[in-house]
Amino acid sequence: MKIAILGGGISGVALARMLAGDGHDVAVLEKADRPGGLCKSRSYGEFTFDEAGGHIVFSKDQEVLKWQLDRCGGEAGTQRTVRNTKIRWHDRWVPYPFENGVGHLTQEAIVDCMKGYVEAYVQRRLGAPCPTNFGDWIQWRMGDGFARHFMVPYNQKIWKRELTTMASDWVAGRVPEAPIDDILRSAIGVTTEGYTHQSVFWFPKRGGFETMVKGTVEGGGFDLQCGVTVQRVERTKDGFLVDGQRFDLVVNTVPLPQIEATLADLPEAVRADIRALVPISLVNVMIGVRLDEPLPDLSWIYLPFAEQGPTNRVTYYSNYSPHNAPAGHGCFLAEVTHRGDLRASDGELLRSVVTGLGSAGILRPEHVVLLEACDNEFAYIDQDLAFRDRIGRVRRWFDESGYITFGRFGRYEYHNSDQCVRRAMQVHEHIRELARTGDRRPLLLT
Ligand SMILES: Cc1cc2nc3c(=O)[nH]c(=O)nc-3n(C[C@H](O)[C@H](O)[C@H](O)COP(=O)(O)OP(=O)(O)OC[C@H]3O[C@@H](n4cnc5c(N)ncnc54)[C@H](O)[C@@H]3O)c2cc1C
Repeated sequence: MKIAILGGGISGVALARMLAGDGHDVAVLEKADRPGGLCKSRSYGEFTFDEAGGHIVFSKDQEVLKWQLDRCGGEAGTQRTVRNTKIRWHDRWVPYPFENGVGHLTQEAIVDCMKGYVEAYVQRRLGAPCPTNFGDWIQWRMGDGFARHFMVPYNQKIWKRELTTMASDWVAGRVPEAPIDDILRSAIGVTTEGYTHQSVFWFPKRGGFETMVKGTVEGGGFDLQCGVTVQRVERTKDGFLVDGQRFDLVVNTVPLPQIEATLADLPEAVRADIRALVPISLVNVMIGVRLDEPLPDLSWIYLPFAEQGPTNRVTYYSNYSPHNAPAGHGCFLAEVTHRGDLRASDGELLRSVVTGLGSAGILRPEHVVLLEACDNEFAYIDQDLAFRDRIGRVRRWFDESGYITFGRFGRYEYHNSDQCVRRAMQVHEHIRELARTGDRRPLLLT
C-alpha cells in the first residue's frame, strides 16, 4: 500500500519503519527541518541537551524497551543508570516518591503526613468513594499532610490550574499506591523504594535522546520528507489525497489541534472539541556550568515551592552521559510549564530560573557558562473535568471514520515514547491485517 504518515515524531517514524519493513511504500510528512518532535536534542559546542525536558529510556514493556534500546545502539550505545530522584523540600533532600521519603521531613511534618494518611486510609476502608476531581483525590488518597507539604504545591506548579478543576482518572494508572507498610517504614526512617518499574533507566551515550529517532530513521526504508506542513487531507472513494497526492491510507500523529483545519471532512462538532484541547506548554531551560567538584549523583529533582523559582523539575543531564558536557563541566535541564504566556526568548525568565536554582542550592549562578532555552507548545495534556468526554468523542469519530490517529497529541494519550512505540506496533498489526484481508474495519485503540 501507499501510506502517508503525518508527523515525524517518534510515533510517526517508528510506525514508518515497521510498515516499510513489510514492503509498503511509506512517506512521512514532517513540518520541522528534521524528525523527532518532542524527542529532539541539540548541541551548543560540546554541550548536548534534550529540547523538551529530560527524557530517559525505560519501559515496563520488555519488547518495546528492547526495540528502543536497539535504536539507541543497544547496551553498548547507552549508559544504564540507577534512578536517584529527590524532592528539594525547603532545605532538605527528600527521596522521591514523597511517600517513600516521608522519614526525611521534619518531625512535625512527619506527624502531619502520617496523621492525614491514616485518616485517609481509614476513610477509604470505610468506603469513601474515589473523588472525580484531582484536588479531592489527593486528600482521599494521601491525606491532608502529604497534600499540604508536597502534592498540592507541586501539582499547582506544574499544571497551572486549581486542582479541583482537574479530573482524577488520569492519575489512576500513573501514580501507583504505595503499600501502607512501606509508608510506615519510611516514616520511621527505614529505606523503601517506590515506582520500581522506573528504578533503572538508559540514555544514549552520545547525541541525546534524539539518537533513538536517528536510529529509527536510519535504514528505516521509508521516504522522510521534512519541511512539509500538511495543508489538506481529503478522502476519496478508495483512499486519500494529501495535498493532491494519492495514498491508500493516512495515519496521523500530528497534535490534533495542529491538523484539524487540514482534514476536509471533519464534522463541526468534532472540530469544536479539538479546538478545546488546549495544551500545557513548556519552556525548557538548558544550563551549562563550570564544576569545581562532580555533580551530586542525582537523576532529576522536583521543586515544589514558589521561592525555588518557576522551575518544577530539574534534570542533572550530564549525569545521564558524560558526553553531554565537556570535561570540567556539567549541565542541567530546567522545566517551566505554562499556558501560552511564557517564551524561551525572555531573558528575564531565564535569569529567574537561574536565581531560583541558586537559592535552592542546585547551582552557583556565577558558574553558569551557557544559558539557552527552547519552546515546546505541546508538552502536557490539560486534564480538565470535560477532557475525558471531549477526547472520547474525538477518538470515536476518528476510529469509526477510518482515519487512524495516534501519538501523545495525535490521540491525546498521556504517553511516554515507549507507549507511543507500543501504539505504533498495534497500528502496524492492524494495517498488516488490512493489507492481507482488505477489511477496512475500525481500529479501536483502547
Ligand atoms: C517534559 C517531558 C518529559 C518527557 N519525558 C519522557 C521520558 O523520560 N521518556 C519517554 O519515553 N518519554 C518522555 N516524554 C514523552 C515523549 O516526549 C512523547 O511521548 C513522544 O515524544 C511523543 O511523540 P509523538 O510522535 O507522538 O509526538 P510529537 O513528538 O509531538 O511529534 C509530532 C510531530 O508532528 C509534527 N507536525 C506538527 N504539525 C505538523 C503538520 N501540520 N504537518 C506535518 N507535521 C507536523 C511536529 O513537528 C512533530 O515532529 C516526555 C515528554 C515531555 C513533554
